[in-house]
Amino acid sequence: MESANTSLRPTAGAAAVQARVAPKLTPKQAATQFARLAEALPCLRAAYLEALGRWSGDPVLQLLGLPIVTECYRSPERQNELYAQGRSKPGPVVTYKLGGQSNHNIGPPTPAIDVAFLLADGSVSWSGLLLSKFARLVKAADARVHWGGDWPKFKDRPHFEVPR
Ligand SMILES: [Zn+2]
Repeated sequence: MESANTSLRPTAGAAAVQARVAPKLTPKQAATQFARLAEALPCLRAAYLEALGRWSGDPVLQLLGLPIVTECYRSPERQNELYAQGRSKPGPVVTYKLGGQSNHNIGPPTPAIDVAFLLADGSVSWSGLLLSKFARLVKAADARVHWGGDWPKFKDRPHFEVPR
């Protein structure tokens, strides 16, 4: 079976289509997705679901991976933990916002979600290529939704938000 890393390459698309079945959520994963989306601002949730519907309805895209929400609301404490990553703690920098500064810290309803892709082998991908394809669908669904991959400096490709 192809590794997650291989499938991140744009050229892997055709092979993936031949070799794979579309990834599906387990009932437990589906419940988690429902709970996370329930935290989101209604217009953000609607845009995500419309994009998800288009993605899942596309015979090519659906085989590349299934969009999933990895996080919506995030407590200020958890935000501070993430901020420490790449600074006082090991790991790459994942945020420039302290607790209370991120749109993830608002609500619920929360005007920010982070997205990744469930692959057919059960692994999770943050492929920039897949995220940019999905971002096009989300922005087409509702122009109020901004994609972190469009930001000029720190490109936060998993991130979608409705600015305050
Ligand atoms: Zn985010």
